[in-house]
Amino acid sequence: MRTLVKPSSKLAKNTSVAVSVDGLSIDVPGPTGFRRVVDAISFEIPKGRVLGLVGESGSGKSLTGMALNGLLPMSGARISGGRVHLSGRDVTAYRDRDWRPLRGQVVSMVFQDPLMSLNPVHRVGRQIAEALRVHKGLGRTAAWDGAVAMLDAVGVPEAAARARFFPHQLSGGMRQRVGIAMALACGPDLLIADEPTTALDVTIQAQILELIDRMRRETGAAVLFISHDLSVVSQVADEVAVIYAGRIVESGPTATVFAAPEHPYTIGLLGSMPDLSLPDAPLVAIPGAVPHADAMPDGCRFAPRCPYATKECRVGRPLMRNLGGGHAAACLYVPVSPS
Ligand code: SF4
Repeated sequence: MRTLVKPSSKLAKNTSVAVSVDGLSIDVPGPTGFRRVVDAISFEIPKGRVLGLVGESGSGKSLTGMALNGLLPMSGARISGGRVHLSGRDVTAYRDRDWRPLRGQVVSMVFQDPLMSLNPVHRVGRQIAEALRVHKGLGRTAAWDGAVAMLDAVGVPEAAARARFFPHQLSGGMRQRVGIAMALACGPDLLIADEPTTALDVTIQAQILELIDRMRRETGAAVLFISHDLSVVSQVADEVAVIYAGRIVESGPTATVFAAPEHPYTIGLLGSMPDLSLPDAPLVAIPGAVPHADAMPDGCRFAPRCPYATKECRVGRPLMRNLGGGHAAACLYVPVSPS
């Protein structure tokens, strides 16, 4: 079963779908009231699949991840439209007390900084064991053994000894492994990984990507992999959704989107990536910046930066157009599939 980005479709109640997002909008508070920063986005991720959500800083990708874990209130943001289902449950209107039993068991999050999810004053093994005691009802010894086994599974060497370490005693890469162990300890259906390798050097980054891929295969968890880095996403995602100014502008199988991008924004993003086979080739940055939430342009939000923009582009939101093979793009001028 493939990951599917769906501009408008029935809500999935199928429990083989870990997460279904249908027309999700998110507003954040500003000096003059709430502003919309995520605007009617839709996607779903079956268990065992990885969707890469890619976009520049300020595109709304991290807020989307927070919405799927009930963390929006931390930033004062709120869901203002659409629906979110986690493993068939409608969680759109859940409050914090409703989210608590789901976190860890149904959905978990890995952050860029693993210290966001680790308590600095407790040994890492104890923190994982505590999650197993609370969510799985394990006794003290079984929970500790489970924590050590989990650390071992994510490649922490001498796991029994390192389980007694405090977070600050571990390297950045090792801390991220612990963060992943913590996130997966209770077998969630969905793992949200928000820029999990951005703070790591290239070698450790590759190891963490390999780990996420292996854990996804072994546990069957779906993964929402959030990143600004297309090259990282290409290594781990089955499907990719490109988000710009709060809207998904292109989606499809990762190989297809990378080989034949159609939306001018995706083409620009790929053009700004270094090509290792052409080390002397200049990088072509997309001119301008993502518009601020207070000043979203009418029509296609990419129009002010798009080299192909026409008058028509500035009237109405371009809808996702089916390009065939699960590939779609929200641009007036993409070649639409006849199917
Ligand atoms: S709709 Fe127009 S402005 Fe938007 S990406 Fe397509 S060509 Fe560019």
